[in-house]
Amino acid sequence: MSESNATASATASESTTPSDGSSGAPLLEVRGLSVVYETSSGTVTAVDNVDLTVNRGEFVAVVGESGCGKSTMLFGIAQLLMSPAKISSGEVIFRGENLVTMNDKELAPVRWRNLSVVMQSAMNALNPVRRIGAQYADTMKAHGVKSKATIRSRSEEVLALVGIDKIHLESYPHQLSGGMRQRAMIAMALLFAPELIIMDEPTSALDVVAQRSLMLQIKELQQQLGFAVLFVTHDMSLVSHFSDRLLVMYAAQEVEFGETRAVFDAPKHPYSEGLLDAFPSIRGPKVPLIGIPGSPPALSAMPPGCRFEPRCPLAYADCKVVEPELYTVDDVLARCLLYSPDHRPKEPAGPIDPTAKGSEP
Ligand code: ADP
Ligand code: MG
Repeated sequence: MSESNATASATASESTTPSDGSSGAPLLEVRGLSVVYETSSGTVTAVDNVDLTVNRGEFVAVVGESGCGKSTMLFGIAQLLMSPAKISSGEVIFRGENLVTMNDKELAPVRWRNLSVVMQSAMNALNPVRRIGAQYADTMKAHGVKSKATIRSRSEEVLALVGIDKIHLESYPHQLSGGMRQRAMIAMALLFAPELIIMDEPTSALDVVAQRSLMLQIKELQQQLGFAVLFVTHDMSLVSHFSDRLLVMYAAQEVEFGETRAVFDAPKHPYSEGLLDAFPSIRGPKVPLIGIPGSPPALSAMPPGCRFEPRCPLAYADCKVVEPELYTVDDVLARCLLYSPDHRPKEPAGPIDPTAKGSEP
């Protein structure tokens, strides 16, 4: 993007217009992505063969219990992994190019301009000893924007987008509240109006009121500017209101992926069902909180069959030994033997009984 484009990029239409001629293809296509941590005590696969797509302007949410590999996956997609983590296989096709095989020099122009990342805590992402304005200027200069006037006006523009007065370009990060810092970070992510913003629980460090207002703002900006979002969150009510599609992860694997509405209305995987039951307020009348008993397996000691089998209320004998694939069920992908042509149970499964014991026969 040229310098003048950096200013023009605030307009809504530009960021939704494909610049790479691949209008029909997804903006982001992750194929068979696996990420391992190689530590002295062995190798663990924290992201196992994940496939996903994000279309232009789409909001894709990722949910799953702590430790299931969500952050590792986002870092793998953004090529921000650091030792001992590394991509062991797979492709990350973004705007038609495989980011996995690009070196830092090739990735540099993509970062911020086409793809930016907002972390859980802006305090870690922002430099504590540089003013907000100086950090925006650094980023723009690193991408060839030289004019002080352009830098100033674009910086004011993005701050205005997130509702922060331009006076705070002079502030240091610690002088802002937690919510303002996250906003300042999101503003920085918007400097070049990227097509994709990857966000890792950007609201989780905030109180509930600030969470909601920041979330509304992210959604408004997304609709106004047209960028796509890949968003990790714990908050199922945010997911239900804001995302177009939903990826459910369990123990490093993708266990369900489909339209958010479809997954909420009729979750296919027993784990998705359990996650939704853990948030009863968004599914009608008040019912006791059921949740999912037990905890996920250690990534270093995966059970041989289905990874969810030890906790699954619907598990049957095959689940202990047969590894489920992703099966297509009503336009949703679900990794559960219930949908396997060869291993589904003899008796059709009834509605999930959460009080039932996890294994049989
Ligand atoms: P999530 O974001 O879903 O909470 P993470 O991606 O942070 O999960 O972590 C996934 C798994 O990767 C963890 O359960 C852990 O086993 C492993 N892991 C994360 N960071 C490291 C690290 N620095 N060294 C070794 N293993 C790690
Ligand atoms: Mg995380």
